[in-house]
Amino acid sequence: MSQVLWFRRDLRIEDNAILSNAKGKVLPIFIFDKNILKSLSKDDMRVSFIYKSVLGLKEKLKNIGLDLAIFFDEPVNVFKKLVEKGFDEVLCSVDFDSYAKTRDEKIEEIIPMRRFLDSFILNPNDHLKKDGTPYKVFTPFYNSLKLITSSNNIEELKRNETLQKSIFDYDFIPSLKQMNFEEQELPDFLELEAYELLKQFKEKINDYKVQRDYIYVNATSNISVHLRFGLISPKQVFNYFKSFNDENSEFFIREIFWREFYNYILVHYPYSEHSNFNNIELSWNENEDDFNKWCEGKTGIPIIDAAMIHLNKTGTMHNRLRMIVASFLTKNLFIDWKKGEKYFASKLLDYEASSNIGGWQWGASTGADASPYFRIFNPYLQSKKFDKDAIFIKSVLPQLKDLDAKLFHIENGASSNLFVDYPKSMVDISLSRKQAIEKFKRAKNEH
Ligand SMILES: Cc1cc2nc3c(=O)[nH]c(=O)nc-3n(C[C@H](O)[C@H](O)[C@H](O)COP(=O)(O)OP(=O)(O)OC[C@H]3O[C@@H](n4cnc5c(N)ncnc54)[C@H](O)[C@@H]3O)c2cc1C
Repeated sequence: MSQVLWFRRDLRIEDNAILSNAKGKVLPIFIFDKNILKSLSKDDMRVSFIYKSVLGLKEKLKNIGLDLAIFFDEPVNVFKKLVEKGFDEVLCSVDFDSYAKTRDEKIEEIIPMRRFLDSFILNPNDHLKKDGTPYKVFTPFYNSLKLITSSNNIEELKRNETLQKSIFDYDFIPSLKQMNFEEQELPDFLELEAYELLKQFKEKINDYKVQRDYIYVNATSNISVHLRFGLISPKQVFNYFKSFNDENSEFFIREIFWREFYNYILVHYPYSEHSNFNNIELSWNENEDDFNKWCEGKTGIPIIDAAMIHLNKTGTMHNRLRMIVASFLTKNLFIDWKKGEKYFASKLLDYEASSNIGGWQWGASTGADASPYFRIFNPYLQSKKFDKDAIFIKSVLPQLKDLDAKLFHIENGASSNLFVDYPKSMVDISLSRKQAIEKFKRAKNEH
């Protein structure tokens, strides 16, 4: 029996299910999947990050006597060749994404696959309400997990130390250029290892509950990208903070379970990837110019524009800003959340289908446990509250740096200054809010 260990979104050697369950001679592999890469732009930052992480994984595997064979191909082609070479089983972690599910079905026609769950703490299929149906609301879902959340440690998987490296050509490493990508400069926090990030965050965790909403403060963990690509497991994050045994850690751990919750929802309700979770029907605004202004940060509303320009430049966006721009797109512009979701998917370094869909459906008031449709963020009040001195806004829109911060928190405040080049608001905030509430009310009544 020669096993292939297919690393996908679990680019680590600790608490790794495939390194724990494998036996004997193994071939660890990573595939730069042409099917995925062909749809990405040359300057996609995620590819630079994954590339760096895959090379890092190769080094770590070498340090424990193994290695990593790297391919640039379609997975089907890779496995056809590996079967010819005598490999007869694939071990990998479960990937719940819809592309991954169809891809795996095709691979299973070529070679048997054994999948393990280690990208999430909870297996969604193992946890239902007493009546046998899945949870739909976060708080009862979270409370029902007390057995897990009240424990001080969730057992991590130990690596099988007797594994041996299969004989193979491990030398091939495609360059980013060969794969048609350009190396991108990454935000500083992505230069750090996952545990270094957690250690830094530990110093700030006492302020997390209060500070995490302030857009200009770096008060959160920044761990989402590492979690997304499995450079650390959610179990390891849980155990690290549990070891401090304090209230602030508990609050942070609860946030980690939002990620579990949205994955749980998507697994149980896969239709919510493409449709409103609550099944209401809305006739959205199809105007492409409106949508493009939002994407490019040309709405005339400083907090929205700063958030979108920052996303386009860095691939990152603060959680509070994600909520504000999602509310603005779906309620004030009345544009379908799916368009916003798709745009985020193309830009976010931490893009994770389940969290992104969950976050968007929450913002659009169409999702599981969503915000009520009549509670619509006013972007001016949000910036007044969470970026009072316009520190974040001015850092992204330097042409406005000399304006009085108060102007950013009133409609058309910034554009009223004739000495700066800044557009008027593309939409009347209170009128569009009223119209959205009417549309939602009608859709709910018709439902
Ligand atoms: C419209 C919208 C889209 C989003 N898209 C994504 C996405 O594609 N990928 C993604 O990882 N998160 C997404 N989120 C959730 C959240 O914004 C990010 O997880 C968070 O900003 C990442 O920064 P952090 O690691 O510093 O967070 P912290 O505040 O330090 O939280 C720690 C971890 O908890 C989890 N978490 C916290 N809040 C949430 C949440 N609301 N939903 C799900 N998980 C959460 C994340 O894994 C996060 O890394 C989205 C939220 C919204 C409103």
